[in-house]
Amino acid sequence: KSEFPLGIRYESTAAASESSDPPSEKYEYQAEVSRLMDLIVNSLYSNKEVFLRELISNASDALDKLRFLSVTNSELIKDEVDLDIRIQADKDNGIITITDSGIGMTREELVDCLGTIAQSGTAKFLKALKESKDAGADSNLIGQFGVGFYSAFLVSDRVVVSTKSPKSDKQYVWEGEANSSSFTIREETDPVNLLPRGTRLTLHLKHDEKPFAHPERIQRLVKNYSQFVSFPIYTWQEKG
Ligand code: ADP
Ligand code: MG
Repeated sequence: KSEFPLGIRYESTAAASESSDPPSEKYEYQAEVSRLMDLIVNSLYSNKEVFLRELISNASDALDKLRFLSVTNSELIKDEVDLDIRIQADKDNGIITITDSGIGMTREELVDCLGTIAQSGTAKFLKALKESKDAGADSNLIGQFGVGFYSAFLVSDRVVVSTKSPKSDKQYVWEGEANSSSFTIREETDPVNLLPRGTRLTLHLKHDEKPFAHPERIQRLVKNYSQFVSFPIYTWQEKG
């Protein structure tokens, strides 16, 4: 276990890199998040498909926030990018990307939101888990409370979040792996990945979960779980 507190940079990969890219910085998850990640990664929870509902709900929240803030600050939507959610499935490589044109996150927000237990659902989950004496309670509790963003690790080995907030000139990339107690943040430098605003999640699916990267399966899940989302959700297949 590391003794480095959350949010304290303790490693830079700059020296190892020949390129002029800004360095990637490594952060420890808050202890509760590490515990939660362990549970998610190792649990026998079988209803893994809830990950898509959780991530679409985050995308929808981000779009809601942008829409709300743009009422008093029309600058925020001056780029005329549509408010929508796009899900791309690459079944050959087992990759799903979920892109929203919502409010995005600054670098600080990435550390706070995707490194700590900032939100109520997950905090309730951990409290209920602590209070329950049942072995195997975690599976029921995951379903009952939802585990938000971290549910991406029900199906993914690696998750990459590239995000652009209107509050920042720069776009940042958060990267985490299923069996790690740390995550990294770096600046997005590949022009291909730049977003006008919003967030793109790239899920590198675990070997056994690759069938989720079929557009038909995603469309079915969207229909079952997310039919009340008030923004358009587009799904398509990566060309093979
Ligand atoms: P909750 O949605 O209940 O707050 P989550 O674990 O699902 O909890 O997400 C944690 C936080 O991460 C959110 O509150 C939000 O601030 C941030 N977040 C997650 N996904 C996105 C996204 N697509 N765009 C902007 N912010 C996001
Ligand atoms: Mg959420």
